[in-house]
Amino acid sequence: MSLGDGTDRVVFVDTIALSTYLVAFVVGPLEATDPIDVDGVPVRIIHPPGRADQTAFALEVAAHSLRWLADWYGISVPGGKVDLVALPDFAFGAMENLGCITFREVLLLVDPESADQRELESVAAVISHELAHLWFGDLVTMRWWNGIWLNEAFATFMEMKAVEAWRPDWDIWAGFGASRAAALDVDALASTRPIEYPVVTPADAESMFDLLTYEKGAGVVRMLEQFLGEEVFRDGVRLYLSAHLGGNTDNEDLWTALEEASGQPVGDLMHSWIFQGGFPVVEGTVVGDTCTLVQRRFRYDGAADDSLWQVPMRIRTTRGEHRLLLGDSPVVLELDGPLVTLNAGADGFYRSEVDVPPDPTRLTAIERAMSVDDRWAATLGGRHDPASFSGFVEAFTGDPDLAVWQAVLRGLYTIDLVAPGRHLTTAAEASGLLGGIVDRLGWEPSESEGDRTRQLRGILLVAAGTLADDPAVIAEARRRWSANASSDPAVDGAVVAIVTSHGDSADRAECRRRFGAAETSQEEQRHLRALALFPGITEVEALLDEVHQATVRTQDAPFLIRSLLAHPHHRALVWRNLVDHWEDMEDRLPSNSIARMLEGIRALGADVDPDVDRFLDDNPVPQGALTVAQHRERRHVNLRLGNRLSG
Ligand SMILES: [Zn+2]
Repeated sequence: MSLGDGTDRVVFVDTIALSTYLVAFVVGPLEATDPIDVDGVPVRIIHPPGRADQTAFALEVAAHSLRWLADWYGISVPGGKVDLVALPDFAFGAMENLGCITFREVLLLVDPESADQRELESVAAVISHELAHLWFGDLVTMRWWNGIWLNEAFATFMEMKAVEAWRPDWDIWAGFGASRAAALDVDALASTRPIEYPVVTPADAESMFDLLTYEKGAGVVRMLEQFLGEEVFRDGVRLYLSAHLGGNTDNEDLWTALEEASGQPVGDLMHSWIFQGGFPVVEGTVVGDTCTLVQRRFRYDGAADDSLWQVPMRIRTTRGEHRLLLGDSPVVLELDGPLVTLNAGADGFYRSEVDVPPDPTRLTAIERAMSVDDRWAATLGGRHDPASFSGFVEAFTGDPDLAVWQAVLRGLYTIDLVAPGRHLTTAAEASGLLGGIVDRLGWEPSESEGDRTRQLRGILLVAAGTLADDPAVIAEARRRWSANASSDPAVDGAVVAIVTSHGDSADRAECRRRFGAAETSQEEQRHLRALALFPGITEVEALLDEVHQATVRTQDAPFLIRSLLAHPHHRALVWRNLVDHWEDMEDRLPSNSIARMLEGIRALGADVDPDVDRFLDDNPVPQGALTVAQHRERRHVNLRLGNRLSG
């Protein structure tokens, strides 16, 4: 309403009872799509002008997830309307403000024709995550910030269930294996933390938004759901929501409801996972028809530790599945057939070691991925010679699954990262492992191929063209780059990564031009990330200049620096540059991104700078102190790995 004096009055309807952190106002030159009707709730995408053609995918996901979530929770959509808003520069991924959910552009606007499966999945997952919060977080919220982890863990868990229901062919839980591996990686450090801890200061609360809250939290919730059974778990959540609608809760209230629904000691079980850091490795010793199970804490530093968990285990033999809770004492399990896995479905947030090698033909894709990942983690922990990893994964080289190859490549890339001096050996090993499947998949997807196989082709081509330095793959990528012809989105992405990893100044100019001319956020991000891949010092310096002159957005700069710190040839230069510009970057970059940027220090060998630790002692990051401590400890794990590889 115009007030006639050059100002307008905007009147809002009353909201439901709401926490103040969920209220947002967005002002700017934005356009809105026409609302679509989702069972009486109008849903719109709000976007920068001219981007309406990239909103259909988000609307489709939102419509599906809202209906699916309302049905799962047994409560209709809260809030009366849902606006999903794309913001041009946003330090967070997205935020679940009631009725006005905000996103980074790249996590909402997308052209399904030119985006690959990973990009589409991340859009679908983030939208579903925020929508899941409308019930779990907005309608019922935590009493105090110590409970925020459960909001986030639960929404992360629900995002996957909603996307699983929408696109079962994406095998979303196999994809979650990579996120869980990242959480297990941090949680194997002495400097990990309990999922829940007392929150006193704003920095305490800000520190909670990390991998352990989202990915470990979601992993533990998933483990509980699979142990209790999906329907029993859902019934418990419904009990909890209906008992506390419009109110505040402690996490204990959810465990109580789940105990009521399941008759299981959920509170006792969850306490060991929530109030102590770390996780166990379950060791199985098979003698005849019995398997003896014991647990100990899994730590990379190998230090003695008497922490124990209530481990809800699903064990599979060739005959069937067995569920048991492993506690303080060893358990002797009578086997009804040969043991297949101690972590069926790979849903347990633990690692396992058995004295018989895994049989890939009896494992599901996600179990095969977990088996490779368990081996790699044990290698980082010093239990296997790192040079034997490529031999171990030979049993998986015919594998057709994306998650398995992601696990294999995580190990190989890390070896290359920490021991750049043995690059030729690593490249030859990678070449031997990848050759067969790269030839078999070729460059062009067949009509009948699923999205995950297309994605697999993309990551394998990148590995063949960068890790294995396959001349034929590099030549073909270059041919496609010069022709600038688009084929499959995952192949297009691979071409950019391969060419820039070997590119010169002319290629950089072209990559920069394509970044500037990009018509979608995904295409823009692809070329932006690639600017950090050029091998030459001139190109590295050019990107550092762009960061300092703010010609790249502050939401992106920390991730470029993180990537540059792992540069194959110029890490030392990048680190010195970071040290020189430290105060400016602390001032200018989003506060929550500094600790994430420093993840890059994991790549800094002792030769780069003997004083990395001293610099970080002198320049603490209060809002991310623990995360930085974890990067520092993880760097030392890499230093030990590098020494073992070159020793
Ligand atoms: Zn969230």
